[in-house]
Amino acid sequence: MELHQTASPFLKNYLQQKFGSVSLTETKATCNDCLCSKPNRGTLPFYSSDLKCCTFHPFLPNYAVGALLQSSQTPEFIKAQLKSKIQRQEYALPLGIFAPLRYQIAFNNRAEHDFGNKEEFLCPYFNRINKSCGLWQHRGAVCTSYFCVSDRGPQGLKLWELIGEYLHLCEMILSQDALVSMGLSPDLIEGQLEYVNCNSGTEEEKASHSMNPALFKEYWNEWVPHHTIENFYINCSTYILSLDFEQLDALLYEETQDLEKELFDSFNKLQNQ
Ligand code: SF4
Repeated sequence: MELHQTASPFLKNYLQQKFGSVSLTETKATCNDCLCSKPNRGTLPFYSSDLKCCTFHPFLPNYAVGALLQSSQTPEFIKAQLKSKIQRQEYALPLGIFAPLRYQIAFNNRAEHDFGNKEEFLCPYFNRINKSCGLWQHRGAVCTSYFCVSDRGPQGLKLWELIGEYLHLCEMILSQDALVSMGLSPDLIEGQLEYVNCNSGTEEEKASHSMNPALFKEYWNEWVPHHTIENFYINCSTYILSLDFEQLDALLYEETQDLEKELFDSFNKLQNQ
């Protein structure tokens, strides 16, 4: 498996050109037949076979939400889930769909064994019937880069962490650029970044999965009712998909170059071991 094969369709070509030489096949982490739920898992953490490591609610960037809403390949339950989040004003913001603050706070204060075992943390995009991800191609940076075990041991897991950081940064830059391209004001963009990985919130935020209606309206006011929120996400997807390698590189390289270098260095070190 090469690095670009793990990324969303929006970044595949870009990563192929950047990291074509980085090959990271993982044979031990068998997600379809979850190792961590087996009695003979050795030192691996225990995960319930019904939940696996999907007890996590990822952030979905605006362009990924648009692609999922638009594609005929997207399972109906995923479309319904996204639409319901928009309707319920559940942190479906111009930048993307965030885990509700109530969820984030509980998750960030979880007990040691909650991950993989606490049903209330199960991802809303998990297909409970076939016990797999409902939006695999568009899963976010955290999901793409999470491995319970690596063929290359702890150093391999560290490299995946680095890849996760890199992909997350790319996601954030692209989703912000989609907003800039549509003329959203910097203040409104900046404000939404506060919803990335929250440890605390107001009593109101802790009490409901939905956002304060006035705040939700403030974030969307420039767009609704002129555009529907669903169309807005689809426009973000169309815009990001239209960017070629040079345009993506102009957007991403300046901010990702240090991580890119670190990633190559770690990969080369692993190769030479
Ligand atoms: S998006 Fe997919 S891979 Fe990520 S936590 Fe949800 S179900 Fe699991």
